[in-house]
Amino acid sequence: MRLRSFAGGNFTGLNFIRLMLGGLLLAGCGPAAWARFQPVTCKNAFTVEQEKVEGAKVAAQVYQQMPVLPDSDPVSRYVQQLGNRLVEHAPGERWPYNFHVVAVEDVNAFALPGGSIFVNLGTVQAAETEAQLAGVMAHEISHVVQRHSTCNITKAQTPQLGFGIASVLSSILLGDSAAGSLAQGALGLGATATITRMSRDAEKQADLLGVGILYDTGYDPRGMPQFFETIQAKYGAGGTQWLSDHPNPGNRMEYVNAEIATLPRLDRPTVTTAEFARVRGIATGEQMYTAKDVQAGVWKKAGRYSPGPGGVAVAVPVSSGQQTSSGQSGGQSGSQPAVAAAARLSKSAMGVGARLVRFQGDRYVMSYPESWQHGEDSSGAMTFAPVGGASAAGLSYGAVVEVAQQPGDGVNDAAGLSAATIALARKLSDQNGGLQQVGQMVSTTINGQNANVVELRGKSPVVEGGVQMTERDRLVTYQRVDGDMSYIVFVVPERDLATIKPMFDGMMRSYRAQ
Ligand code: ZN
Repeated sequence: MRLRSFAGGNFTGLNFIRLMLGGLLLAGCGPAAWARFQPVTCKNAFTVEQEKVEGAKVAAQVYQQMPVLPDSDPVSRYVQQLGNRLVEHAPGERWPYNFHVVAVEDVNAFALPGGSIFVNLGTVQAAETEAQLAGVMAHEISHVVQRHSTCNITKAQTPQLGFGIASVLSSILLGDSAAGSLAQGALGLGATATITRMSRDAEKQADLLGVGILYDTGYDPRGMPQFFETIQAKYGAGGTQWLSDHPNPGNRMEYVNAEIATLPRLDRPTVTTAEFARVRGIATGEQMYTAKDVQAGVWKKAGRYSPGPGGVAVAVPVSSGQQTSSGQSGGQSGSQPAVAAAARLSKSAMGVGARLVRFQGDRYVMSYPESWQHGEDSSGAMTFAPVGGASAAGLSYGAVVEVAQQPGDGVNDAAGLSAATIALARKLSDQNGGLQQVGQMVSTTINGQNANVVELRGKSPVVEGGVQMTERDRLVTYQRVDGDMSYIVFVVPERDLATIKPMFDGMMRSYRAQ
């Protein structure tokens, strides 16, 4: 199902993303540490489990808004493998760490709570040695270890908000207009005052713990301060956002070097590897986007970026409906028009068995599975989807809810509702390249409201084993006392219909026009 352009909503999810390498350069810090740095704990209103769940939701949003290379890309594989080695030496909680590469040229990286870490291609290119790149990644891992983002959110919440903290993270935007703001946040552009902006203390803690992780993994810990130097030499103090954001790099260099001095000399630390040189060469040949291109969504046309965590980029020629694997060794996709494909979700990813929670819409109430996300577009249509159910490829699992204005006197009886339902089904069909009706339209009542149910069949954005799946769309319409018509479109690959049906039924029955 094709999504409309989503817009609006709140900025919480975006702010949450804004955990950047941007903080790497600090000022005004105290004298050198005398003993090895120990991770700092802070007051945190989130359980570890909440942090994992909410962090994964934000990670899924990153894929919709930034060009994340597929996991199979050689640069991604290398970064994953480097990250996996580093986290073996990360202290504290065993977060489900995962590493990804974003095709963005700015020198940056960011960590999400719960352990998703994104490194820009520009950073891979800028690093001169493996130890330098490992230093950037160890810094990001250290933000995760010390739970800086959720501690920040905890700090920013007023006490009377109480359990609202969890929902702060749950309300994450799905959508295009969000892309700009998200990219800005993640790339370190635009507004700077956000609740998750890393404090200088947090950045210092990430630097110092990062040095320890680097060292314990067998790298020359000087890779970290050397990266600061490399970047400064290349771009100058004002040349990248994170340098201009953080004056006094000398001070940062000083405390990092002082920390390194507390560590016994390693016998033969790793400075760089042939593998790094090889991968950096590949990275140099990869297509990269500017922050502006990312905002404009230019990259979405390439069809080669990952639709979601664990997803694979597959190009589907729009004309024939047949699939070919996208070229993954760099460069643009060919002359064929291509769209991104979505991945099939497991039963647990769909949220089967999740508790239904009440959603108060503008002119309705409805329940939806607690683990799903929701986002609103500029026209007020609300999309509810499990993580991975909505991507650049469109909506593959979930539901869209909207109140559709009706002309004239509007819909005021069962016959009027049926006519409006048929017209809407036709419109949906036209917008989605032709949908086939399955069975007869059913007229019924739900919570005392006249309602119609139409089942439709079309093409799903989900591709499995190189085959585009068939989609089932259930259109439910409700007559409103104000003469307008409410509707819900439920979307799922046909093969998963039986699995998700009880959830759709529950949502459909919970709907009340207001
Ligand atoms: Zn940082």
